[in-house]
Amino acid sequence: MPKTMQTTIQCVNCRQPIRATIQSVVDPAQNPQAKIALLGGNINMVQCPNCGTPNSVLAPLLYHDASKELLISYVPMELGLPKDAQERAIGEMMREVTSGLAQGAFKAYLLQPRQALTMQGLIDQVLQADGVTPEMMKEQRDRVKLVETFMQSPPDLLPQLVQQNDAKIDAQFIQTMTLVIQQLLGEGREEVAEQVAYIQNQIVELSSFGKQLMEQNQAQEAVIAEVADAVNALGPEAQRSDFLQLAITYMGDEHRLQALVGLVRPVFDYGFFEEMTAYIGKAPAGDRAQLEGLRDMLAQLTAMVDQQAQAALQEAVGLLRVIISSPNPDEVIQANLPMIDQTFLQVLSANIQEVTKRGDLNASAKLKDIYNRIVSALQASMPPELQFINQLLNAPNDDEVRTMIAQHAGEFGPPLLGAIDAVEQQLAGQGDPAVMQRFELVRREATQALA
Ligand SMILES: [Zn+2]
Repeated sequence: MPKTMQTTIQCVNCRQPIRATIQSVVDPAQNPQAKIALLGGNINMVQCPNCGTPNSVLAPLLYHDASKELLISYVPMELGLPKDAQERAIGEMMREVTSGLAQGAFKAYLLQPRQALTMQGLIDQVLQADGVTPEMMKEQRDRVKLVETFMQSPPDLLPQLVQQNDAKIDAQFIQTMTLVIQQLLGEGREEVAEQVAYIQNQIVELSSFGKQLMEQNQAQEAVIAEVADAVNALGPEAQRSDFLQLAITYMGDEHRLQALVGLVRPVFDYGFFEEMTAYIGKAPAGDRAQLEGLRDMLAQLTAMVDQQAQAALQEAVGLLRVIISSPNPDEVIQANLPMIDQTFLQVLSANIQEVTKRGDLNASAKLKDIYNRIVSALQASMPPELQFINQLLNAPNDDEVRTMIAQHAGEFGPPLLGAIDAVEQQLAGQGDPAVMQRFELVRREATQALA
């Protein structure tokens, strides 16, 4: 783990002393969050608890990324260190890096760190190693500047500002805003993040790009709904040949075919393509080329759907790793709540099973702890009615349920009944008789209490 140091600095604005943590080595292999912080200009930055001014702590920094054979030192000129003191500082940080290396992992690039004269220079070198060119960096800086302009604008001037910058608002700009929001959430600045999210919504509504995007989304949803209807019309007994006939009616229509594969991916298995090849063999010669084109497209689309599932899986694995290695897992969980979905929970459960099977008690306890933290965070983010229903379903006995409803149902009023309907729809599919029985009691008692 990278070593950190405590120091006290004086706030540039209000002159109050501030305690600050200095990070001297940034290594994404050990701490991916630190690289993100560095690229966002947030490394060795501390916000004054007294006046809120961000203060940068001037300290030597070493960036190390073994996967890219990248080693860059940064000694702020403002420190005014003489050359030998600079070298000593770099030498100390180097020892920290090399002492953490596995045996035999020492390579030539470690002998000669590159130098960065400014923090921005360091960030540029790290980005360049990621394949980001200076032009791309300038464009990105301009985007960030524009985001800042929007954040500082009074709300009533927003429509005008969008109009003035309409040409610059594109997918990358919207993505940049999303990054800013994530960064703010990571820093625990929920209120500002919410504000930026609100502005982002406004921009999507008002800009040409956003309008186009919404139209596309609507069109896409309409296509998906139409294809879903067609699939449902095939009925529960539908055969491969029925799906093949449906695909043929969509021949040449990539959007509808994509919706079809996305909706019923399991249909397009090896057997389907075998059957389709046989079908093509028997088709009139004049139709074959077209049918073969359709088969190729369906194969491409299934590969694409699988790739997306794979990417979602990798993202979930990455997030889990960040949560495990974070000293404050609750914060990371909170900031990434929208990413904690079914896929993520499956990855977590699979990991728990795996370490339990291996008998690794430490890892298993740690993962179970993370699981519990996630469940609490998900529950806390639920509307209060749902939280209450959840408590009722988990209550130790029926009497407890009656007491809780008698005491608290009035606080929620009629929306509680609406929430009960919504939960019932979800539970009905699972059909656990004990849960359904408890649920009936909840409904009866709540209806009476609110009558
Ligand atoms: Zn201050």
